[in-house]
Amino acid sequence: MRLDRLTVRGFRNLADAILDVPPAGAVLLGANGQGKTNLLEAIAYPVLFRSFRGAQDLELVRFGASGFRLTLDFQRAGRHRSIGAGFGQGRPRKQLELDGAPVRRLIDAAGQWLAVVFAPEDVRLAAGAAAGRRLFLDRTLALSDPGYLAALGRYREALAQRNAALRLARSDLARVFDPALAASGAVVMARRMAWVHDMREAFPASVAALGEPCAPAELAYQGTAELADPAAWPARLTQAETRDLARRATTVGPHRDDLVVRLAHRPVREFGSTGQHRSVAIALKLLELETIERARGLRPALLLDDVFAELDAARQQRLAARLFEAGSGQVFITSPRAGELPQDLGLPVWWVEQGRVAA
Ligand code: ATP
Ligand code: MG
Repeated sequence: MRLDRLTVRGFRNLADAILDVPPAGAVLLGANGQGKTNLLEAIAYPVLFRSFRGAQDLELVRFGASGFRLTLDFQRAGRHRSIGAGFGQGRPRKQLELDGAPVRRLIDAAGQWLAVVFAPEDVRLAAGAAAGRRLFLDRTLALSDPGYLAALGRYREALAQRNAALRLARSDLARVFDPALAASGAVVMARRMAWVHDMREAFPASVAALGEPCAPAELAYQGTAELADPAAWPARLTQAETRDLARRATTVGPHRDDLVVRLAHRPVREFGSTGQHRSVAIALKLLELETIERARGLRPALLLDDVFAELDAARQQRLAARLFEAGSGQVFITSPRAGELPQDLGLPVWWVEQGRVAA
């Protein structure tokens, strides 16, 4: 994956621009609050057509502007492609574009352009709430398996409608959505559990390679395993009916699950140190990168937002070695100071100041 040109209009604080991108990527330097992360956010947006920071589309529109537009011209497997996204400007829905033609369904445009972001807030993967880890699983699997993305879309739809019926205290209406919920939810469960199982060796290896001495490192899926079979759903949903009605929400299914990380047999979320949280988060992100790369046979662009700042020199070097071992991929790295980056990156420098980018 290689971004050749980025066209931005009305996005965050970035000045409208057409940026020709160096093949190897760039180091983005600039003081705090100048737009470095915003630029990464723009590059990452057309992967799944959402902000990696979890921002709503409306928040991405430059203050006072009526909408934003992004176009990425890139090369995939040697072929020139382009992907576009637009929001606002009087249109009710966001617009997706592939090779210049409008695309209606997310599933047809998602993952055409691939980038993996490492950001300081990833530490929440280890230390934060389960929702962040579910999103991590969903993004990783959606980008490596189109069947997952399709099932996830159907699941979310069925869940939203079922919950709307429960809010009206209409269990008869809620039941209408049970078959769709079961069919799609079982796929989501089965693929998440299979991924966690597949990672049982890669995850501890990844943690160890970052220099985290706290062995063993384990990854476990926390959920009702039998729901990987659609036939198990009706009984579970019936059992939960009174509770669902009382809470006015569906209490059964993968939207309640978690990915549990243990170091030395203890859940890292509760017992890990800040440094351990950081190592676990980076190890998970490396799995995301490797999973997508293996499934798609393409190296995603790497977007590294301030990730080296908090690491000691030895961890910096180990992480840089892991990230750049494959060598050939395009990399964008932000930092307020050049001195906080590992030595010898050999990347051109872009200066970011008040939303303007200069080579
Ligand atoms: P740091 O080094 O602190 O991480 P940064 O260069 O990464 O800084 P960004 O997060 O990219 O900074 O940009 C932050 C700036 O963008 C802030 O000044 C903020 O006010 C501005 N900003 C955020 N959203 C919008 C928006 N929708 N419209 C205009 N400006 C915005
Ligand atoms: Mg930033």
